[in-house]
Amino acid sequence: MITLAEHLLRQSKELEGKLTAFRRDLHRYPELSTHEAETAGKVAAELRKLGYTPTTGVGGHGVVAELAGDRPGPVIALRADMDALPIQEETGLPYASARPGVMHACGHDGHTAMLLGAAELLMRNRDRLAGSVRLLFQAAEEINAGAKAMIADGVLEGVSEIYGLHNLPTLPAGQMAIRYGALMGSVDRIELTLEGKGGHGAIPDQSIDPIVAASAIVMGLQTAVSREMSPFEPAVVTIGSMHAGEANNVIPHQARLTGTVRTFSEAARQSMPGRLDRLIGGIAQAYRCKAELRYINQTAVLVNHDGPAEQVERIADLMLGAHNRKVAEPTMAGEDFSEYLLHVPGSFFWIGSGPDREAERAYGLHHPKFALNEACLPYGAALLAAIALLRSGQQPD
Ligand SMILES: [Zn+2]
Ligand SMILES: [Zn+2]
Repeated sequence: MITLAEHLLRQSKELEGKLTAFRRDLHRYPELSTHEAETAGKVAAELRKLGYTPTTGVGGHGVVAELAGDRPGPVIALRADMDALPIQEETGLPYASARPGVMHACGHDGHTAMLLGAAELLMRNRDRLAGSVRLLFQAAEEINAGAKAMIADGVLEGVSEIYGLHNLPTLPAGQMAIRYGALMGSVDRIELTLEGKGGHGAIPDQSIDPIVAASAIVMGLQTAVSREMSPFEPAVVTIGSMHAGEANNVIPHQARLTGTVRTFSEAARQSMPGRLDRLIGGIAQAYRCKAELRYINQTAVLVNHDGPAEQVERIADLMLGAHNRKVAEPTMAGEDFSEYLLHVPGSFFWIGSGPDREAERAYGLHHPKFALNEACLPYGAALLAAIALLRSGQQPD
């Protein structure tokens, strides 16, 4: 007798052609964060064809649909993201982006197709469903805004558990990876303005040079991590942009810097604004500049809940075999799925989207040559459907 998990994977593989075609269409016509109107329209149309009654315009361009079983049980939420990135595609694929400077380089087109696949599998196996499944097609993940907007619009009301996935090109298709506890880092943004006093490049004594101060601050900030935090408490402070001056012989009035701050625990995250403020303020003062720091909280650390993570492992083992389940390495990259996990228990995992061999050499996420191995689509769809069915009351068989 085959298990429900195996049955779903078999059914899902029958959908491979359809999922691939849907994903390729999204890939060809990608939309940037907060502009996903067309994508959302396609998702809603597809859901209607499957028999759902989707709600659109949730948390921006998000789409939500629900399927209720005949028997009572909990509400299990599944989430996919839909937005693309401001990257010029260089894959040369026949279905490469038709929109200059916009690309699905993070595989959210694949995630959307997978959740639609799950929607179809759930509809087909509705008689096995207790409770209900809520499907969340989220917008604006790449700018860390969509999850918060969806939550503000009430998508978690009544939800018992939530699950989501992200493709991983360094893992072959057919495999998955998960980790207990913190999986992905927090993401915060800093914006710093330094004010000095402009003047002639040849007469520095009559000026206050914000470029020299900015340089000292960039160097000094590195000690916030290396000298102030435990080597066992990972954190990253990166200054990603620095703008000052126009002419070679003029000391500018102002320097502007922006950066990103990543941590791996909420405690470390909360310590960062104070540390950075003190270091920046002190250094700026030493260089006679005025500093103004804006610390903008974006996304929390993604922390998997133990119970749900264990369930995902169990279901992955049933479907893919334990040898195809890996222990995920932690990453400082962020993912706004973390916001849902602040409110309800759940778990996030990686689904392999790399080539069968030498996946470690595949182009990474956000690369102009990133290419999703579409063989991953039925696996993602089947896993999501199995999690929803098994967690909403169906006993594993
Ligand atoms: Zn991304
Ligand atoms: Zn992504």
